[in-house]
Amino acid sequence: MIRRYLVLAILPVALLLGACAATPSAEPSASPPSGDGYYLPTCAACDTLLGTRGEALDVVHRGRALRFCTQACADRVRTDPDGVHAFADAKMRDDQRSHYPLDTSIVSGVSLGPAPIEVIVGNRLFRLASRDEVAPLLRDSKVVFERLDRAVCEAQSPRYAMQHKCPVQGDILPGDTMIDLVVANRMIRVCCRRCEVMVRARPYQYLGMIDYANRSKTEAH
Ligand SMILES: [Zn+2]
Ligand SMILES: [Zn+2]
Repeated sequence: MIRRYLVLAILPVALLLGACAATPSAEPSASPPSGDGYYLPTCAACDTLLGTRGEALDVVHRGRALRFCTQACADRVRTDPDGVHAFADAKMRDDQRSHYPLDTSIVSGVSLGPAPIEVIVGNRLFRLASRDEVAPLLRDSKVVFERLDRAVCEAQSPRYAMQHKCPVQGDILPGDTMIDLVVANRMIRVCCRRCEVMVRARPYQYLGMIDYANRSKTEAH
């Protein structure tokens, strides 16, 4: 039964990771997925657009948040877990590569060279200089995640298109406690903690908006 894997993946997603410019709060949770929430608009096991075959199913497997188009696809995480994770990894590598902020390894600082090792941890792409860096990445993933968050914000904040717009709430006002957070190697600026929780819980609702705004800004220049 797939229900066994169904965990409420709403609030706890990645709150433990904090944000670039905020003190992380400790949300109590039984077994939260680690890393970023599932953010792709398509199913983790096929290329179906989520929502087109009924309500998408949220599943946490191996500590990772995933979403599926149908129960049949969700069941595959049990019958072919390696296949499903590899499929989702490949999609996320292709999706995040162009957003990756560094040409040096996040683990060692060594230049990535022409053929970096690409690893997905908690739905996030990490690019490494060699296979030897995979173990240290996994061992210190929380620290390395935070380091990558900072690198993403540093690289993207100057050209971020929605400087004064929160994707959840609208205008960011002078009194707001603005937060820059990172999902899928994209910086997202929100107006408050509550909106951060919304974005982390359902990044797929907001990332498209950010990508569109950033693309439009780049094309306008
Ligand atoms: Zn599917
Ligand atoms: Zn807000």
